[in-house]
Amino acid sequence: MSSAVRRLVIITGAGLSAESGLATFRDAGGIWSQYDLAEVCSYPGWRRHRAKVFEFYAKCKEEVLAAQPNSAHHCLARWQQKWGPQRVKLLTQNVDDLLERAGAERVMHLHGELTSLLCDNCYRKFDIGRGPVDPTRACPLCHEVEPVKPGVVMFGETSPGYHRLGAAVDGLEPEDILLVIGTSMQVIPVSRLVPAWRTGHALNWQVNPAPAEPVYFGWNVAASACDGLPQLEPMLSQLMSD
Ligand SMILES: [Zn+2]
Repeated sequence: MSSAVRRLVIITGAGLSAESGLATFRDAGGIWSQYDLAEVCSYPGWRRHRAKVFEFYAKCKEEVLAAQPNSAHHCLARWQQKWGPQRVKLLTQNVDDLLERAGAERVMHLHGELTSLLCDNCYRKFDIGRGPVDPTRACPLCHEVEPVKPGVVMFGETSPGYHRLGAAVDGLEPEDILLVIGTSMQVIPVSRLVPAWRTGHALNWQVNPAPAEPVYFGWNVAASACDGLPQLEPMLSQLMSD
């Protein structure tokens, strides 16, 4: 085995939190079916329908606060604790805080998080924790209210997190493991998750009930996150302790 310390880069999507009961905009039903997503999930929609957007994300947050981390969240948090956040990078497209509540120390939220608000005037992002998504909250820096929006990335916005995603996948060495969990790869395409030179690499792993873009991965586990991660764990533990 090479002398380099093997790292694990994990990128998760909605499938990770689905087993905690959190619906996504790709599922029928839930609060997502009660709103026009062009109004509540897009930047132009936010500019025109501010009150409705806050109402929508407040409902999303209520759902998240009522949900509990599932065994897959706990598994990923345990891996990060075991091998450390320098070796285990956790990136998620999810705006919930279930990985953190499972004990993960460091999580990069590629699409923002419901625990923050963002000022579109001065770009200050500020933490609101478990507090309400409150449309009357003023920006702590410029003190404006109207430009404050939920701290989630909407369609039509550029995610600052994509630089971090690019850095994480571009920094992969041949001996590193790339694990993609529960994403349809429709918002972030596979070309941004898997560097071209790693196409089909043996240490590209995917866990998804219906694996997306399987030819990019050396190992596709056709299972939910909760069922699939235990299947990977023996091999992973062996590789990470080499
Ligand atoms: Zn501001």
